[in-house]
Amino acid sequence: MQAVLLSIGDELILGQTVDTNTAWIAERLLEWGVMPLYHLTVADDLPAITAAFKDAAARAPLVIATGGLGPTEDDLTREALAAAVGQPLVTDEKSLAEIRAFFARRSRPMAERNALQAMLPNGARPLPNSSGTAPGMHAQFSGCDILVFPGVPSELKAMFDPHAIPLLQKLTAAAGNASVILTAKVNTYGDGESNIAARLGPALMRRDRHPLIGTTVADGIVSVRVRSQFPTREQARRELDATLAEVRAALGSFVFSLDQQSLAQVVTELCIASKKTLAVAESCTGGLLGSLITEVPGSSAMFRGGWIVYSNDFKNQQLDVPLDVLQQHGAVSEATALALAENALKKADADFALAITGVAGPTGGTPDKPVGTVWIALAERHSPATARLHNFPGDREMIRDRAAKTALNTLRLRLQNLSSSST
Ligand code: AMP
Ligand code: MG
Repeated sequence: MQAVLLSIGDELILGQTVDTNTAWIAERLLEWGVMPLYHLTVADDLPAITAAFKDAAARAPLVIATGGLGPTEDDLTREALAAAVGQPLVTDEKSLAEIRAFFARRSRPMAERNALQAMLPNGARPLPNSSGTAPGMHAQFSGCDILVFPGVPSELKAMFDPHAIPLLQKLTAAAGNASVILTAKVNTYGDGESNIAARLGPALMRRDRHPLIGTTVADGIVSVRVRSQFPTREQARRELDATLAEVRAALGSFVFSLDQQSLAQVVTELCIASKKTLAVAESCTGGLLGSLITEVPGSSAMFRGGWIVYSNDFKNQQLDVPLDVLQQHGAVSEATALALAENALKKADADFALAITGVAGPTGGTPDKPVGTVWIALAERHSPATARLHNFPGDREMIRDRAAKTALNTLRLRLQNLSSSST
């Protein structure tokens, strides 16, 4: 079954607000095997919204729109829907009472304009909104079900399940294609997209395979997306799990997580599970590594803290990198990276310490240390520290991002080794 998704609002058209509702709804529809035919973003313009409703209703049995239900002059979605279905706007007394009650609960006077929000096309059904004033609407028009939700993402999300799911159940069952689509993402770090595809091999990458596998890359992370479409939820789940196991087996330790889980989350969890603490010493990443770790709720259980040691003086004063090491080998060197990691480990009394020192550019590169040269060291209590040389491509932002992620990945691989050798 197909659906059309409409998002309505000048702020979306102008790019001032990014349309997150459509992506969210599309993902929910997929769970019901409903494919969006197209997404359309429309300005706050009565003829344009009216035409968008009419076109969409002619092309798909389901239309879901968000936005333009507010009480102000620029909110035209209810007028447009009324025009599209050829019905006058009438006041729904129950909705009006609910809007009045909403203001009464907050001890605020209700502007008369808010009464407009209780109006809907004759014959349409209001969809109560418990977290805002604007009810949604459900209209039927020439064989098409049209659902309209408020644009505020939190209101849409609260209203979608109670109002859209029963309709989706009914429509997909009636369409006789009650298939379910489940998706998952396997995230990898450390190899390029084409190499990851090669590791998966032609059998897993076949375009007629069920579940279907595809790769995407974003910010150095190559993800393998799996889409499992089958008649029942149980079968879709079972096939998805089987394919995920095959993907994991093919990619081994390149895989760091599933779905939305970040490298920093994985490292945080692994540290907490093995009761290990971490300190960092950062030069060219200037605190990015510490920031990625502290973004994770609960990281206080494993993160001791760190140093941003940008100048040579500071590397020497704060983390005791010997001046002769800095002079002989330079700040971007194996010896400096090792000293930073070892001394951060000692001073923080941590179980692990990561150090990053490199040339982020655009200036500062030399023939033997070009822009993108980064040394990453890992020190560990009771073990000798190790350091590795990396050459990251791209601009300053990309080099710093890859350096911080590669440091996290270095520790991730070490922690996973620890836990697999102890079990
Ligand atoms: P409206 O229902 O048009 O009054 O929208 C209320 C607010 O919700 C707008 O000011 C936007 O900030 C937000 N909004 C509307 N549509 C979307 C959308 N498609 N994605 C994300 N936010 C939205
Ligand atoms: Mg609007």
